[in-house]
Amino acid sequence: MQRQAQRWQRDGVRIVLVPTMGALHAGHASLIRRARKAAGKNGIVVVSIYVNPTQFNDAKDLRAYPRPMAADKKLCRAEGVDVVFAPKSLYEKDASTVIDETAVSLGMEGESRSGHFQGVATVVVKLCNLVQPTAAIFGEKDWQQAALIRRVARDLNLPARIIVAPTMREADGLACSSRNVHLNKSERQQATALWQAIATARATVRKGALRGLKRRLILSIENQPAAQVDYVEFFDEQTMQPVNPKKGTRMALAVYVGKTRLIDNGRL
Ligand code: AMP
Repeated sequence: MQRQAQRWQRDGVRIVLVPTMGALHAGHASLIRRARKAAGKNGIVVVSIYVNPTQFNDAKDLRAYPRPMAADKKLCRAEGVDVVFAPKSLYEKDASTVIDETAVSLGMEGESRSGHFQGVATVVVKLCNLVQPTAAIFGEKDWQQAALIRRVARDLNLPARIIVAPTMREADGLACSSRNVHLNKSERQQATALWQAIATARATVRKGALRGLKRRLILSIENQPAAQVDYVEFFDEQTMQPVNPKKGTRMALAVYVGKTRLIDNGRL
């Protein structure tokens, strides 16, 4: 991959990377389309598919992660992807170097999933070194991850431009996610509570009745019998620091629906 990428680089070919863990859905497809726009007709769109073990803090979650490679290749072909980069493994057995971001990655997902963002930052830097992209596309769905990647790219002078693309949703508002396949029919219905909570918060900051908003949102989500809130947070979009909810701040939440952990976020 790296040798091929260096050849393209030498010839002035634009390379745009879409890093994924596979189980591709409409959200990934929209990132691929954004990548094509950034690459241009003559550029190369690379989709990496790699279920990165170092970003899982739960071995069961890693084992259960869906890996439908044939369907993923089919989607990539249909979307006009030039290269699917699907390495078997990316780590030496005794790998001992990691990327540790120490500000934007601390709260929320960083707090709930110990080691997760170290794994994410490390694999993204590795993928950038292998694929040598001019630009890399990430989804707003994982807002904190996108903030982390932006910070790492800035602090370590990664040559890739980081582009963040909007969240694709099902008709009822549920964010597309590879984990949605784990939901049974009833859980799938209850999972709309995440998006509904964001919509409620958005309406509330416009009315000004903010007292106890977080508590009310948690109660309304947990009104769904299978839902258990991990966190609801309001924060500044750039610094990721917690703030009181108001128009223009962002809300993120993580909720277990049955055994499946879902995340979502939106601007208020
Ligand atoms: P994943 O395969 O879940 O690691 O995600 C790969 C990339 O797709 C990440 O940049 C995600 O933020 C992005 N992504 C995941 N779900 C969505 C979605 N519903 N809409 C847009 N992008 C998404």
